[in-house]
Amino acid sequence: MALMNENYLKLPGSYLFSEIARRISEFKKENPDADIIRMGIGDVTRPLVPAVIKAMHQAVDEMSQAATFRGYGPEQGYEFLARKIIENDFTPRGIPVDIDEVFVSDGAKSDTANFQELFGLNNILAVTDPVYPVYVDSNVMAGRTGSVNAKGQFENIVYLSCTEENGMKPSLPQTKADMIYLCYPNNPTGMTLSKEELKKWVAYARDNKAIILYDAAYEAFIREEGVPHSIFEIEGAREVAVEFRSFSKTAGFTGTRCAYTVVPKDVKVFDSQGNAHSLNKMWLRRQTTKFNGASYPVQAAAAAVFSEEGKKQIQETIHYYMENAAIIRAGLESAGYKVFGGVNAPYIWFKTPLPSWDFFDKLMKEAHVIGTPGAGFGASGEGYFRLTAFNTRENTEQAIERMKTKMIF
Ligand code: PLP
Repeated sequence: MALMNENYLKLPGSYLFSEIARRISEFKKENPDADIIRMGIGDVTRPLVPAVIKAMHQAVDEMSQAATFRGYGPEQGYEFLARKIIENDFTPRGIPVDIDEVFVSDGAKSDTANFQELFGLNNILAVTDPVYPVYVDSNVMAGRTGSVNAKGQFENIVYLSCTEENGMKPSLPQTKADMIYLCYPNNPTGMTLSKEELKKWVAYARDNKAIILYDAAYEAFIREEGVPHSIFEIEGAREVAVEFRSFSKTAGFTGTRCAYTVVPKDVKVFDSQGNAHSLNKMWLRRQTTKFNGASYPVQAAAAAVFSEEGKKQIQETIHYYMENAAIIRAGLESAGYKVFGGVNAPYIWFKTPLPSWDFFDKLMKEAHVIGTPGAGFGASGEGYFRLTAFNTRENTEQAIERMKTKMIF
């Protein structure tokens, strides 16, 4: 008899976006003509830019000729892409990154979910609440968490509540934490941490021999000066942090799939005897065993993100989304909502006058606008709601207009 991994039984039954899809489909059955505007799921809407498409076409052509055909590539990614990543994302910020510290992959979702494998099951993790659910669920699957309480919170996880009271910024853990997940710019709140704030986290990790798993998937959306783009801007972070990046939102690669993780050689984890081991070596071992690399055409396309025309075209797209974000922010504020985010991130997070799923239903039924209920991201997300800037200008303006006129409390 094949026995199951019973940790899966601890997971909540319905994934947030399936529940949203179920409610939409029920509503559409009764209202087939409703003109629904979707601002829920965080997926881009604009196509890949021409520079990326051109590079991808060229790479596909190379694959069609025996002389230029490529089979398996290096599991950790082609050097041509890793070099471009370092030259563009780190060197200009004065961050030294070695070529063998960059691991190219097929997504930050898989990287953030897989990375926990390198840690013992007795580690305590800390996550912000609300949080991108992948960090929690992947640790539950691995068996690092205990039972779940009525609020949906797991034993052995320290939840760092982010609410209006603390300006959506987590406080340092009050009890021991070994693996700390931070995501900035944040999904779902759209908020960022300043350098001074990040320094406290790096100091905590150094003092407690903890590791920060830093998800910077939305780094490209930072508009304000002085906001850190990488945890490695903080002195000492190379010894205690790993950083996840993605081409998904930066360059519209959600359906194309490419991301990377930086694992400095200075980061160490310890065995039960207290001996230090290199996390970089462990991740290399893990990736070379379980992953066979992102495809060549995709990596060639990702490299074009860093070409002169690629950078310019991508900035135009990001600017377009961020103008949407500004429209949403201003519209919600003028309608009297307390709003967070949307300045350095494509997410706008706001307080709702109803519990978040009730607000979801009312928004769908009366304004035909879909968003994401904050409660889906954790207990502290109750009473909040997320809208995304990934849409057309027309839809964004329409949605805000409808919210102003139809969502009267
Ligand atoms: N990290 C965060 C915080 C995200 O919001 C997302 C996607 O929504 C991801 C990672 C996943 O990125 P990718 O498409 O590279 O898997």
